[in-house]
Amino acid sequence: MREQIQCKTLTTWSALTALALACGPLAASAVEQAAGVLRRANVAMGAEGLQSLRYTADGIGYTFGQAYVPGQAWPKIDIQEQTRVINYDSGSMREDIAFSRGELKGGGGYPASGQVRNTGLVGGGYAWNIAGGNASLNTRALADRTHQLWVTPQGIIKAAMRNNATLTWTTRDGKNIALVSFTEPGKFSATAHINEAYLVEKIESVFPDAVMGDTRSVTTFSGYRDIAGIQFPAKIEQSQGGFPVLAVNVKTVERNVAADMPVPDAVRAPYVERVTADKVADGVWFLAGGSHNSVLIEMKDHLILVESPLGDVRASAVIEQAKKLVPGKPLTTLINSHNHFDHSGGVRAAVANGLKVVTQAKNKAYFEKTFATANSIAPDLLAKSGKKARFQGYEDKLVLKDATRTLEIHHILGNNHSETFAMVYLPKEKLLIEADAFTPGAPNAPAPATANAATVNLVENVHKLNLAVERIQPLHGRVVSVAEMYTAAKMNPR
Ligand SMILES: [Zn+2]
Repeated sequence: MREQIQCKTLTTWSALTALALACGPLAASAVEQAAGVLRRANVAMGAEGLQSLRYTADGIGYTFGQAYVPGQAWPKIDIQEQTRVINYDSGSMREDIAFSRGELKGGGGYPASGQVRNTGLVGGGYAWNIAGGNASLNTRALADRTHQLWVTPQGIIKAAMRNNATLTWTTRDGKNIALVSFTEPGKFSATAHINEAYLVEKIESVFPDAVMGDTRSVTTFSGYRDIAGIQFPAKIEQSQGGFPVLAVNVKTVERNVAADMPVPDAVRAPYVERVTADKVADGVWFLAGGSHNSVLIEMKDHLILVESPLGDVRASAVIEQAKKLVPGKPLTTLINSHNHFDHSGGVRAAVANGLKVVTQAKNKAYFEKTFATANSIAPDLLAKSGKKARFQGYEDKLVLKDATRTLEIHHILGNNHSETFAMVYLPKEKLLIEADAFTPGAPNAPAPATANAATVNLVENVHKLNLAVERIQPLHGRVVSVAEMYTAAKMNPR
């Protein structure tokens, strides 16, 4: 008993290491040991009494989920200014970011040139964006922003302290590193690497994502210095899903700033996923009402859905609406437009509903791999269904045909938005369905000053394939005549 007490009251770093090595069955538990390390880190990092902080940074970032090629690096952005205000007491964060595209290829919805400013918040179980003074719910950002809030240098200490973290040891360059591990239930799991100065050098974490499932993230902090009474790194680097997402230099840090971020009423209002159904042609409906929409196509004895976007919630509402529109025929097939996570976030839910997924061959290989990774942190519909994904891949063209309808799926070649981009063409209706290559502006809005290269490429693909398109049904926006595509591309019809 005396030895046990002695083990528990050891205080220095080397004694803690010795404790782990020597005390054996009499040692304090891994949780008690972690608590000891965390108490010291809490003091050393200046996290004790820290309710909020504000830091600014600049550098480079990358847009997670918007790779040009599925399974390859996320597209680069140049960050002119990133400001984060974090309230650790309320679990809220606001990020204001000013950035521009760092490379032309890949998604993200940013203009080819010029600066973009985004404001995103998280708190109270909600994520929301602010644009033009208006707040709008952004459910899809909740998991990522919650994770980002707590994988900050002081945030990880606070999160570990409330979650019964456990301790193991490793060495790096001959120095001891304490590995403090925990799970914030339903949100993320993490291991903080704490060095002999009780500073967090690295965080390995896992957060849930609608496409990748359990997604690995590594965040490293270097160049610690004392700023405003806390230890804060000069450089923050992060990867998600195996590729970099952030490499910024910290410019300013302020401690215990005003950080009241109440959830706006508009965000807190009861939320219903709205799916409207507009008939575009006989047996063809535009399932809209969201930021990312879908098209339902009726075949002789089954139904085909084009696009299952965003995530479980949107996908489930779209599938329900599709089944309601044509109750007599089974919904059997999903056509996915491309690899970007906003457009493919509902593919897992489609699989859970028994749909076969038709997508470009490279997407097929990628989804097969990512869907094999469980979403164990926040089990999704696919995890709960226990279903295995079925895919039909194609290289450049696939025709789905029965007695009532022919439907052509074409690989859009050479587009800078995605290497695995698809468009769907209904020859009888002369209707083209596409996402992101052309998104019409508001009715009667003037055409953009410069043509979008993705739209120019879309026109080139339509010409090369001799598609007699009369109308376009974009998955963002409204059905328009083909003339609007030519106007946007600043090209002439052939
Ligand atoms: Zn896209």
